[in-house]
Amino acid sequence: MSDSEKIKDLEQRLAACNSELERMMREQQEAGRLLVRRDLALSRANEQLKTLDVIKSDFISIAAHQLRTPLSAIKWIIHMLARDEFKSVVERKDFIQKASESTDRMISLVNDLLEADHIESGKYQFIFTPVDVAELIKGVATEVQTMAMQRNVKLSLELVSATINGDALKIRALFQNLIENAIKYTPQEGSVSIASAIHNDFLIISVSDTGIGIPEQQQDQIFSKFFRAANAVRVDTVGSGLGLFIAKEIVARHGGKIEFTSTINQGTTFTVSLPLLSKK
Ligand code: ADP
Repeated sequence: MSDSEKIKDLEQRLAACNSELERMMREQQEAGRLLVRRDLALSRANEQLKTLDVIKSDFISIAAHQLRTPLSAIKWIIHMLARDEFKSVVERKDFIQKASESTDRMISLVNDLLEADHIESGKYQFIFTPVDVAELIKGVATEVQTMAMQRNVKLSLELVSATINGDALKIRALFQNLIENAIKYTPQEGSVSIASAIHNDFLIISVSDTGIGIPEQQQDQIFSKFFRAANAVRVDTVGSGLGLFIAKEIVARHGGKIEFTSTINQGTTFTVSLPLLSKK
C-alpha cells in the first residue's frame, strides 16, 4: 500500500470512528433526556401521592369530627337514661327521639362517606333499567312532606311522565338530596317547587327554592367534596358536604348534566338534565 493510500485508509477509519462517536453521543444525550423526563414524572407522581395523602387525612379528620357530635349526644342521653335523670316521661321520650335522630344522621353520614369512597376508588356500581323519574320524585316528595311541614315550607310538583335508562336507587338518592337541601336551606314560609319538561331528547328537572342562596364567591366550590358554604353551616350545623359531590357523579354516569343558579337570600334552582330512554 502506498503512503497516500495508507493516509486515505487512516482518514476513512477516522471518519468511521468519528461518526460512531457522534452516534454514541446522540444516544447518551437521548438517555439523559429520558432520565430527566423520568425524574420529572417521578416527582409529579410523588406530588400526587402527597396531595392524596393530605386528602385522605382531611377525609378522616372531617369524618371523625362529624361523627363525634351525634355520638356525644347519644352518649349523653344514655348516661341520663342510666341515671334516670329525666324530669318526666315526656322529656325522656323527647330525648330518646333525639338520640334516634342522631343515629339516623350518623347512618346517613357513614353511607355518604362510603359512597364518596366508592366513587374515588372506581367501585361505584350502577344498575341501569328503564326508570320513570316522575314516579321516583313523587315518592321522595311524599317522604319529605313531614320535613317540609315542620319547617313551614310549601312543596309543589309539576312533573311530566318520562322514562330514562337509569339506576333507580341512585336517581332517587340524587333527588332526595336536592329536595332535602332545598327544604333545609329555606326559611319558614318559603317554598320549594319541582318541575320537569322534555327538551331535545333530554328530561330537564328543576328544584327551585326561595331559600338562603349560595354566596357568589363560593359557588365554584359547591360540588367539591365536604364543601359547605358559611351561610349553610349557620342554618344547619350538621351536614356532610358530600351530597352534591355524589349527585354530580350520579348525573355524569347517566350522561347528564347538573347546574344551578343562585342569589343570596333569594333562592336557588338546581337543574338536572338526563338523556331520555331512546325508543329505538
Ligand atoms: P350538605 O347539605 O350536607 O352541606 P351538600 O353536598 O348536599 O351537603 O351541599 C353542599 C353545600 O351546597 C351546602 O352545604 C350548601 O352550602 C350548598 N347548598 C346546596 N343546596 C343548597 C340550596 N338549595 N340552597 C342553598 N345552599 C345550598
